Formats: sequence, C-alpha cells, structure tokens
Amino acid sequence: MLVIDCPYCGPRNSTEFRHAGEAGKSRDVANSTPAEWRRYLYEFNNPLGWVREHWFHSSGCRRYISSERHTGNNEVRWVVPFGTPAPSTTSDKETGA
Ligand SMILES: [Zn+2]
Repeated sequence: MLVIDCPYCGPRNSTEFRHAGEAGKSRDVANSTPAEWRRYLYEFNNPLGWVREHWFHSSGCRRYISSERHTGNNEVRWVVPFGTPAPSTTSDKETGA
C-alpha cells in the first residue's frame, strides 16, 4: 500500500489521490507539433529509482502536491504543497534536478 503524507490532511492511502504527472516536464505551447503533444501527454519516463511527481488529492483537500517517490518500493521521501521548492536530497543527481 502506498501512503502519501498530504501536507494539508496528513497520511492518506494513495487511492485518495490522482496521479497528476511527472514534475519538471515542460512543453512549448506555441510551437509543438501534434506528435510532441502526444509525447508530452501520454509518454512517461518511468525509471527505476527516485522520481518527482505531482498528485491531486481528489478525495481529500482537492489540492495539488509534489513528492519524490522511489518507483521500486514506493517509498515517499518527501511531500510538499504544489509550487513549493523541493527539498534538497541526495537524489538530485539521480533526477537531474
Ligand atoms: Zn490533502
């Protein structure tokens, strides 16, 4: 079971959240081709290791949050409100942040 410690509600089961995508993805709205939009919307890196991502607490506070999670064991290292700078971690080299 994946538990996400929402900064507004406290620890909650991940079933209360909707995954809102990888953190740090960007797009060029004015110049993107349909193929680039498709890649932005539907293709994900899905590496084994630490990833930064966004979640929407759809069954709770209905706010967006950001986290860093290990895809191998679902350990969540930190969770912050969306828009808050990420804490500095040893995985910064791993994530390229
Ligand atoms: Zn919440």
